[in-house]
Amino acid sequence: MGIVAKFGGSSVKSAQAIERCVDIVTNFPEMDLIVVSATYQTTNKLEHLTFELLEELHKHHKNMAFYLDLDKSIHQEIDATTEMAKNLLEKKEECELLSWQDQMYCVGEMWSSWLFYGAISKKLNRDVEWLDARKIIKTDSTFGCAIPKVDLIEKEVSQLSEKTLYITQGFIGEDKQGRGTTLGREGSDYTATLIAAAKKSQAVVIWTDVPGISTIDPRVDNQAIVIPQMSYKMATTLAEHGAKVLFSKTLDPVVKLNIPVFVKSSLEPNSPGTCISNQSPEGNFGLAIKDKFVTFVCDNAEELEMEGIVDRGDNFLVFESENAIQLARDIHQNLIKDM
Ligand code: ASP
Ligand code: MG
Repeated sequence: MGIVAKFGGSSVKSAQAIERCVDIVTNFPEMDLIVVSATYQTTNKLEHLTFELLEELHKHHKNMAFYLDLDKSIHQEIDATTEMAKNLLEKKEECELLSWQDQMYCVGEMWSSWLFYGAISKKLNRDVEWLDARKIIKTDSTFGCAIPKVDLIEKEVSQLSEKTLYITQGFIGEDKQGRGTTLGREGSDYTATLIAAAKKSQAVVIWTDVPGISTIDPRVDNQAIVIPQMSYKMATTLAEHGAKVLFSKTLDPVVKLNIPVFVKSSLEPNSPGTCISNQSPEGNFGLAIKDKFVTFVCDNAEELEMEGIVDRGDNFLVFESENAIQLARDIHQNLIKDM
């Protein structure tokens, strides 16, 4: 049992943000494993890394470690991680790009998980351990979007102690030959649910910087309404059609086991957020945008007829526009008018 938590890049973007996360963890003694993403924008910078950028990222993480007053051992881990990145950067030309990139992506996850571990172990009166995600997230060798090997993950997870709070990394794994892989950009949510399924956890909590999953991206329409409860199917359809709040494969591992997934804001930890489970109240709807397409997701989409539908499924209708953002906003405004 226990809870698996995942803190996204925006939740760990600064030392102050990490301190907020530490407070959250202190108030959730049921958490027994935490997945930490690279700090905000770090993975994007690693994608186009230069020696100058590496220096900048190194300084950023070191400054956070100084601010958090972390032990010398954490500073050493950050230095060693930077050294690893430097070596990788030097041999970029000799490597196959996708495999090289997956190894480089590990760097960001290492920096942030060491910072998080350092800050947590200083504050918490519990047995806390840093865990290398590559030791448990076993995958095939499809670099860039590796397929997890669920049986092997289960075997590795069964070796973990039930009394320890583990701090591990997002989206990185390892293939049979011991080479670094990743589950795909933004895949840390998936790491959390894969581990939760293997552990038969009680719940997963995805901590992010928005107050839950909303009827529309709040950056598109600030009248977006947080949806308190939605089905796995609805959340997956939204993610597959462009809603950025969840990685599209996130719910696959937990649906059959009926493990609820909560999406909550680390800035407002006391607001309820969204609970994703097999329950979906009537009248629930959400909008997602991907390129020129706006997808309207609701449980009774099959019964609806509307003008301009370009594709449909049993719980969604797709519309197309050169200005998809405006179209989504208009549809949203119409829908909330009647609420
Ligand atoms: N840090 C990784 C990324 O930015 C994984 C994640 O955040 O989900 O893609
Ligand atoms: Mg994400």
